[in-house]
Amino acid sequence: MRVSKVSSSLSFRSVFKKTSKVLAADVFSHTLFLFPFSSAASSSSTKSHISSFPKEIKSYTWQEVAKHNTADSCWVSLKGKVYDVTEFLPRHPGGKEILLLSAGRECTDLFNSYHWRTLEKSTSYLSQFEIGTLSGPTEHPLFAPDTQDLYGKLSKRIKQYFYETKKEPKQLWPGVWRVVLQIAIGLLSFVLSMNYLSWASPLFSRLGFSQAAAFCSSPSPLPFWAQCIAAVVYGIFQVMPLLHAMHDASHTAIGPNEFYWKFLGRLTHDWYVGGSMISWHHQHIIGHHQYTNVFLADPDIPYRVDGDLRRIVGDQSWVGVYKWQWLYLPVLYAFLALKVRVSDITDTWLARTSGPMRVNFYDSVLIRIFAVKGSWIFWRTVLPLMYLPITWQKYWALWLITEFTSGLWLAWNFEVSHLAPEALFPDVMTGEEVAAESATKKSSLQASVKYAPGQKVVPKSWVVTQIESSVDYCHDAPLTTWWCGALNYQIEHHLFPGISQYHYPALAPIVKEFCKENNIRYNYEPTFVAAWLKHVKLLVDMGEKGFAYKWE
Ligand SMILES: [Zn+2]
Repeated sequence: MRVSKVSSSLSFRSVFKKTSKVLAADVFSHTLFLFPFSSAASSSSTKSHISSFPKEIKSYTWQEVAKHNTADSCWVSLKGKVYDVTEFLPRHPGGKEILLLSAGRECTDLFNSYHWRTLEKSTSYLSQFEIGTLSGPTEHPLFAPDTQDLYGKLSKRIKQYFYETKKEPKQLWPGVWRVVLQIAIGLLSFVLSMNYLSWASPLFSRLGFSQAAAFCSSPSPLPFWAQCIAAVVYGIFQVMPLLHAMHDASHTAIGPNEFYWKFLGRLTHDWYVGGSMISWHHQHIIGHHQYTNVFLADPDIPYRVDGDLRRIVGDQSWVGVYKWQWLYLPVLYAFLALKVRVSDITDTWLARTSGPMRVNFYDSVLIRIFAVKGSWIFWRTVLPLMYLPITWQKYWALWLITEFTSGLWLAWNFEVSHLAPEALFPDVMTGEEVAAESATKKSSLQASVKYAPGQKVVPKSWVVTQIESSVDYCHDAPLTTWWCGALNYQIEHHLFPGISQYHYPALAPIVKEFCKENNIRYNYEPTFVAAWLKHVKLLVDMGEKGFAYKWE
């Protein structure tokens, strides 16, 4: 399957022209985390384009829909229909940003998973924006229809849980106190790793601890090994806010509206870590969560047949070096945090892609990528080298320790959640193959669904695919859940990404029971180590020549 990249066809010059033009407006909207209502104010000027389109029902290809991927013209396609939601952008209760991310795309399952509480109502509300139907195949594979309404039935049970407990699915405070604590520990370990303790001296003398005050004011109080330990702690607490508040914020799962999601997401990911929410949104929300483990659609797994350092799916070609991937990959994972910051520029900005996903710029690239990264480089590197008692050799050694710790912490937590032998890697079929299989044998595939010629189809429904392609581990262990940001409840997270992660331990038994009743495989490992060993097993197996799992 070739992945088309409509946006990447834009020339560098036109990208620059476009971004320059919107810069002034974006500088204003960028201050949104200080002025929450500026979003509503600025969006009230969004041009209403809906009236400029004829109301007659027309049909559009995905390539035509893909051109309408901005705030000036925002189209989406769901269940074979095309909607112009430009006018609705400023009024969308889930915020403008997630709609702009979806602009120009097929987003049926994204829509369902964020409207699980009000699916019927939201679908009927959407109908007023319908402008036509989708003709031809979709850009990425379609999931088989959920003919038994499994997602609706499960959502009903989850709604019942929240009704009975009177809890708020998008609770704010559990995430806020954790992020404050995590950033405080992170910044403290950062200054300790830089051997900068003199700031604490007046504090200790005021409290009467004269020896501690004298220790802190000495020129180089900590030995280098202690600085290294502080750098490791900083590496962990650099990414802990990403696993908690940022992850929930990117899924609209923390706080009641877009102000909180933008503020907490950008504070933790962009300003604190020097990353880019634009990249994360495309990779994670648009790519990974919609197409989990689908080869050539999920940006988290290799998306080329050749030339990737990892061989994770059987459709990738094999070279000898993969025999050793179980040894070299767990080490190379250390570069993850560094890699994503570079790919913000090389992939998101220059190539305008996130793996197989096209990038929609819902915000200014210049601000997001350069001003934010510039400020991070300034406080993280320039200031310490200029003013703190540390040599540049030691600084860079500690910098690498921190970055490698962050990379390993993130990757080891991410990889065990989907890349395991028992996790489903859907075998994408063509619509014609689906029809043939439905006709020749007893199959769960739907013969009644007529797919467009060339349509790629994931043979299981989105809900079943989400469950079977994820791995849960070590339930009911609050410390594990804290250290991995509830990624040990991956199945629950993929089914209900818009729910705060702090509810997942309570939701897991409901989901598990539902899977049992409906004969859906629920992948579970008792400990993190067991889950990690399964991941290594996948690396060993896929490193073997010609090896490909039969994922059933
Ligand atoms: Zn997620």
